[in-house]
Parts: sequence; structure tokens; C-alpha cells
Amino acid sequence: MSDNNDTGRKRPNILVTGTPGVGKTATASLIAEAIGLKHINVGDLIKQHKCYDGHDDTLDTHILDEDKLLDLMENMFQECADDNKGIVADYHSCELFPERWFDLILVLRTKTDILYDRLTERGYSEKKRSENMEAEIMQVLLDEAKESYDVNIVQELQSNTVDDMDGNVERCKQWVEQWIANNSS
Ligand code: ADP
Repeated sequence: MSDNNDTGRKRPNILVTGTPGVGKTATASLIAEAIGLKHINVGDLIKQHKCYDGHDDTLDTHILDEDKLLDLMENMFQECADDNKGIVADYHSCELFPERWFDLILVLRTKTDILYDRLTERGYSEKKRSENMEAEIMQVLLDEAKESYDVNIVQELQSNTVDDMDGNVERCKQWVEQWIANNSS
């Protein structure tokens, strides 16, 4: 994993991405707590600030106002950098963010049967569940991450069990400690 930093940041920024239900928010909040990073749940941020640019009636979803979201996040990233604080963000897409924001991209992966149960529990319609299951099987998010960022900073992590999640948080903590040591001069 690459951990060189030419941004002048004192703390790294991490993006946790993956298909809905793989455990992004749960993992990112544990990472934030364990390491002392600011957690940005991008989905919640979009809702809170109504970053919408109309409604897609066919898909029955809001259309994302990317400019509004990115402006908002840019300010948050700047404020955290000024305070020497790192960020862990989580979102089900990654190609929209500027590459320079992140030092590590974690792509969580979940086995099909486990994801099926989680999405069912979440109350997803059969159509929405199938679309997301297919995206996970086709590793859409892993490919998107590798196409959007330096492959050396993209890490694929299994997220099937609570033990997986704890291990991922611990691994991330060690990576952050190493990153800080390498960038502390
Ligand atoms: P996402 O943010 O990727 O949509 P969540 O973090 O909301 O996913 O997790 C979806 C559900 O699955 C939650 O109930 C969460 O507690 C559970 N979960 C997530 N990751 C794991 C895991 N590795 N092991 C067991 N349960 C998990």
C-alpha cells in the first residue's frame, strides 16, 4: 500500500466504499472512533443539505447535485486539514470525488448470501436487491475504485462477519499509524 503524501496533510483521509449493505457506515464509524478521525456519512450529508437536482421518476430517486455536494465536502476537508484532523468518508460510489482528497480507498466486499439477507432486512424491493446483488457479484465498485484512484491505495476487504469488521478496523488503524510516522517530518 502506498503511503506517501505530497499534500502537506498531517493526517490521512480514507474513503470506505462498496455496494449498499456491505458495511460501509458501520465500519467507517468504528474506524472514526478507533482512530479519532471525523466521519462523513456522505449519504446522510446529501439528505441533510438536500443536494438534489430534481427527481428521476422512472427510478424513483433524487438526482444528485454533485457540485453542491462537492463544494460542501471541499469545505469540510479544508477545515479538517486546517485542524490537522483526518476524515473517514463512506459512500456507495467513488468516482465523483477528486483523487487528491483520499490517501486510502477501502472497498468492502460481502458474500452474496450474506448481502441478500442484509438487503432483505433493510426492506429493499426485489428489484433494488437484485440490482445491488448483481453489482456486488460483478465487483462494480472495486473496478470503479481502481479506475478512479491509484491502484496502490485501493484495498479490497472482506466484510462478512463482525470479526472481519474488527480486523478491518485494526488493519486500518495500523495503516494510519504507519502513515503518520512516515509523514511526520
Ligand atoms: P452500508 O453502509 O454499506 O450500506 P451498513 O454499515 O449500513 O452498510 O451495514 C448494513 C447492515 O449490515 C447493518 O445492520 C450492519 O450492522 C451489518 N453489517 C455490516 N457489516 C457487517 C459485518 N462485517 N458483519 C456483520 N454485520 C455487518
